Amino acid sequence: MLYILWFILGSVIGSFLNVLIYRLPRQEQFVRGGSICPKCNHVLKAKDLIPLLSFLFLKGKCRYCQKNISWQYPIIEFVTGVLFVFVAYYHQINMDFGDIMFWRNLIIVAGLIVVFMTDLKHFLLFDAVTWFLVIVAVISNFVLSVMSVSWQTSLWDFGLAGIAGALFFWLQHALSRGSWVGQGDIYLGLLMGLLLGPKNLMVALFFAYILGAIVSIILLLRKKKQLKSQVPFGVFLTLGTFIAMFWGQKILSWYLSLLS
Ligand SMILES: [Zn+2]
Repeated sequence: MLYILWFILGSVIGSFLNVLIYRLPRQEQFVRGGSICPKCNHVLKAKDLIPLLSFLFLKGKCRYCQKNISWQYPIIEFVTGVLFVFVAYYHQINMDFGDIMFWRNLIIVAGLIVVFMTDLKHFLLFDAVTWFLVIVAVISNFVLSVMSVSWQTSLWDFGLAGIAGALFFWLQHALSRGSWVGQGDIYLGLLMGLLLGPKNLMVALFFAYILGAIVSIILLLRKKKQLKSQVPFGVFLTLGTFIAMFWGQKILSWYLSLLS
């Protein structure tokens, strides 16, 4: 029953994320102004904006101009709903992480969806989004360190991991004069370190590069991309971060057990 509520909350947040994903690259103000149909500019009413249900009832067409509504909207709403259920379930079975960690993870997961989509669609990372998440990570690290002794000792580790993550991308940025990685990746590296700490940062980067390499090879083989063409690396960094956030510890202890 509770999971249904988390799914509904997730899909409502997902429809807000859709607004961000649509408006950030267009530099529209997202606080003011109602939603309009991008095809006919008709102002949408509340009944047109119910997450998932409006799309289903309208059979994927705008009520006013009958043109198709992008599948991106219901997909993001659905995925956000599923991920909120996942975070709730994860914290149910890992009780020791506490409420702060739970709310932090909900906000971070929502933010990562925006980073993933804007990079995938527009090759853009928005500093405002990344910095908002950096602030969330810093505040939650401090609150956790006040609440638990084990966090007190690791506060420095997380701070240093943030600096290491930023330096890692800054170095590539400087060496390539900005052609390999953009400035946005430096801030994303900072966020990853602050969120994950040193060990899980390595897990996240490992998966980001592996996934990035696999997808690039597939695209090259299918001749969709040339060697020089741009790859939205933020997409893989968000995936790596997501994996490390929830499974980093397990992956690390599995890997270490192989070595011993
Ligand atoms: Zn329309």
